[in-house]
Amino acid sequence: MNKKSKQIIIAIDGPSGAGKSTLSRRLADCLEYINIDTGAMYRCVALTALQQKIDPDNPEQLGDLARLIDIDFRRGAQGERVMLNGVDVTDTIRTPEVSLMTSRIAAVPSVREAMVEKQRAMGEGGGVVLEGRDIGSVVFPRADVKFFLIASAEERGRRRHAELAAKGIDVDLQQTIAEVEERDAADSQRTHSPLRRTEDAVLIDSDNLSIDEVLSKMMAVIEQRMAGDGPGGRESVN
Ligand code: C5P
Repeated sequence: MNKKSKQIIIAIDGPSGAGKSTLSRRLADCLEYINIDTGAMYRCVALTALQQKIDPDNPEQLGDLARLIDIDFRRGAQGERVMLNGVDVTDTIRTPEVSLMTSRIAAVPSVREAMVEKQRAMGEGGGVVLEGRDIGSVVFPRADVKFFLIASAEERGRRRHAELAAKGIDVDLQQTIAEVEERDAADSQRTHSPLRRTEDAVLIDSDNLSIDEVLSKMMAVIEQRMAGDGPGGRESVN
């Protein structure tokens, strides 16, 4: 495939810990596309709200904050970095405290409107992989390829636990699984843009698959769509 032939928009949605971030990054590398981690963007709003002691129940202040902050993704020697107002917050936005705050502020409509606007501006030219919860349903409902990635809560909790441990953050495994479930419930049950699979998203269950296996399934779907003979969706590839 000629990577530069078509600059399409690829959407990856699913619950936390299903492997979206890793796969989004790997796909972007394979295709030489830009990778947009929308969860990191909501995390940046949550971190700033915590730092500035903004009341999570004050939608006006949160909306102003979300509109004003500058979020940028950079690639350097240490891999992909998340820059918030010019400061590297890649690790700071991953603590359990920020994770829980993120699900809370991500339910606030004014925050979502500001983030969706930024995401559309970043992705509208194509040549992007966006990962999140509402990419295929709200941000880019006409994305060229949509994936919905799932895995059991236990498996996702184990992965998140290992990820945190690798960064030297010591948390209890059962507590991590419980937090994953708590966030699932908050993300799926919120009124504004809840996590949901659209009918045209390709469903992939990553429970018993390695990252490489999921990646090759995704690449096969993308190549088919780019060749213009892809099915209309509704299928599962596991
Ligand atoms: O993907 P990640 O776990 O980093 O996302 C953190 C939180 O941000 C999610 O639990 C969800 O509440 C929120 N989020 C969202 N919409 C997105 C991406 C993330 O609501 N597109």
